Amino acid sequence: MATDSTIRKLKEAPETGSTMPVLFIGHGSPMNAIEDSEFSRAWAAIAGSLPRPKAVLCVSAHWQTDGTRVTAMEQPRTIYDFHGFPAELYEKHYPAPGSPDLARWTVDALKDSHAELDSGWGLDHGAWAVLSRMYPKAHVPVVQLSLDQRQPPAVHYELGRELGELRKKCVLILGSGNIVHNLREVVWEDTACDWALEFDARMKDLILTRDHKAIIDYPRLGHSASLAVPTAEHYLPLL
Ligand code: ZN
Repeated sequence: MATDSTIRKLKEAPETGSTMPVLFIGHGSPMNAIEDSEFSRAWAAIAGSLPRPKAVLCVSAHWQTDGTRVTAMEQPRTIYDFHGFPAELYEKHYPAPGSPDLARWTVDALKDSHAELDSGWGLDHGAWAVLSRMYPKAHVPVVQLSLDQRQPPAVHYELGRELGELRKKCVLILGSGNIVHNLREVVWEDTACDWALEFDARMKDLILTRDHKAIIDYPRLGHSASLAVPTAEHYLPLL
């Protein structure tokens, strides 16, 4: 288990020359935490294909605050921020440790984008539903970073750039949201609307061609964008 002193040593250690990938995962339904699905299997496979991170910094759609906050508790609680699901889901506990030292390091890294330490949050389902599949032993420390709900997309993108230095010291940055997230238009069948498929394909193309300007300016992508992203919170962790 990576302890806080491990993290401290990590920050002071010379860079390894390799950079940890950064992930954006569409977390979908909280049920992915307990149901076997193509998604939960893919998350486990991704974790198995990566070097074991010293810690995870998770940006979840489900933590929106005024200003940016970073969880700094030793042992974050599992937060059940959903309603109307089976009892089994509320009994699931994800006991990954936190890392106050990584939290402080994150605040230090955000020189232009100011952030503050937080002792009240924990791990919401955007974090634990995914991480319990990626690292079921809960042996990797997890810190969450909030979304500043007062800021436009370009500010979130610049904040993401400042986090880059953590990747050089074996910290896995995980954005957890959804490219398409419109609960009013949701289809409860194994199919998807044309506008959702169109927007998803468009985003994949923009990501692969590194057209970050278009990704930041997503409202300009037209009708499919307004349907896929009616509110920003699930999209912003991508930035
Ligand atoms: Zn969500």
